[in-house]
Amino acid sequence: MTVPKINADECTGCEACVDACPAEAITMEGNLAVINADECTECAACIDECPTEAISE
Ligand code: SF4
Ligand code: SF4
Repeated sequence: MTVPKINADECTGCEACVDACPAEAITMEGNLAVINADECTECAACIDECPTEAISE
C-alpha cells in the first residue's frame, strides 16, 4: 500500500472521502479532493468510499 492517487477526471467533489479519512489527510481544492501524503497513514479507507472510483492505490 502506498498513498492513494485521486483521478481528477473522475472526482466529482462529493467529499465522501474527506469524511471517511480517519487521519483527516484529505482536503478539497475547489471541486477536487487532494490527499496530503504527509498525513496519510495508507489505510485505504477512502478507496472504498469513493462513489466514482476516482481513488486508486
Ligand atoms: S488511505 Fe486512509 S489515511 Fe490515506 S487518505 Fe485514504 S483514508 Fe486517509
Ligand atoms: S469520494 Fe471520490 S468523488 Fe468524492 S470527493 Fe473524494 S475522490 Fe472525489
